[in-house]
Amino acid sequence: MKTVYVDNNATTAIAPEVLAVMQPYLTDDYFNPSSMYDAARSSAAAIERARQTVARCLGGINADQILFTGSATESNNAALFGTVQANPERRHVITTAIEHPSVLEIGKELVRRGLEVTFLPVDTNGELVLDDYIKALRQDTLMVSIMMANNETGVCYPVAELARIAKETDAEIVVHTDATQALGKLPVELQTDLQHVDLLAFSGHKIHAPKGVGALFVRRGTRWRPFILGGHQEKGRRAGTENVPYIVALAKACELAVAGVDDEQTRVRALRDRLQNTLFERIPSVEVNGKAAAVRLPNTLNLAFYGIEGEAILYELSRHGICASSGSACTSGTLDPSHVLKAMKVPFTAIHGSVRISLSRDNDEADIEWIIEVLPDIIARLRKLSPYWDDAENCLKL
Ligand code: PMP
Repeated sequence: MKTVYVDNNATTAIAPEVLAVMQPYLTDDYFNPSSMYDAARSSAAAIERARQTVARCLGGINADQILFTGSATESNNAALFGTVQANPERRHVITTAIEHPSVLEIGKELVRRGLEVTFLPVDTNGELVLDDYIKALRQDTLMVSIMMANNETGVCYPVAELARIAKETDAEIVVHTDATQALGKLPVELQTDLQHVDLLAFSGHKIHAPKGVGALFVRRGTRWRPFILGGHQEKGRRAGTENVPYIVALAKACELAVAGVDDEQTRVRALRDRLQNTLFERIPSVEVNGKAAAVRLPNTLNLAFYGIEGEAILYELSRHGICASSGSACTSGTLDPSHVLKAMKVPFTAIHGSVRISLSRDNDEADIEWIIEVLPDIIARLRKLSPYWDDAENCLKL
């Protein structure tokens, strides 16, 4: 049976072009880029070329503002803790209730360390209320950290505008964004649109590079201190021997991601919309988590199937070769329902029946057709067994 992989917000397959460019640095060019002999110089040069490429992909910024890291989680930790350490006089941070745990958990840790953190709520569509944000900005606000796009729902946030408002309120406020789900799906232009963003994090494995590499953009002049201390690598801003093959891979993946934004916005969006519309025609009592398609990533479809368990749906999909993920966080080893869907006030039975389908450039019409063929039957069968579902009336038992 063919595997239909539609869990691309969790991770993506390594692109063949990416594998090809990284391979020499796993074999022949294994040198430590800090070593003095000629052989090592080509490794050091490969890192600098990669830095130039990434900088070009983020809107033609100056390359010395890019640091390579081990993941977006590390980049987010470096962004937040590095800003807090550099600015002890300011004690208020603004973030949202729907951030990835690699920002959310830092927010909670900052509270434990005595800072004040505003976790902005979202409405039932997953969107921020601009007025809440404006009211939250204070004289002692140190930083704002708001993601460009949410990994669970695909809802996008107006980071360019939020950053401009922060800087107009107080030019000293440091603005960070987690762009992990945005890169390759939306334009990420640090020279124009996002000119007021100071720190931006992303990861390789969401854009068809391997897991275990990421980057952090630190705009020149940002009051920020290095987070990982040790050797002099990355000009002392991120210690540790550089992961040359993965850095080279990240740069190639960035090139492909940026070149692929149009394909995501047209072909992938059309696949997603066809899937959404057809499932809506064939399945009763289903809703999109994060409704308006216009403010969602083009590849993401998070559906609430009322009256059944997301895990049961995933199991059945998996038996048909379809890899998706659930709206509760069970896949990440906990049974807690998703904090994102909870923040959106998605009803309890809908959170538990939520499934996320996330496409990539690797998906085609045949993949969509297969999901359309099997998913309505799966839902109907599971509902027959569900105590919450009235099969005769074709609706929830309320
Ligand atoms: N931020 C977002 C929005 C993500 O989706 C993820 C990955 N799920 C991360 C951060 C963490 O990325 P990494 O796995 O590279 O640490």
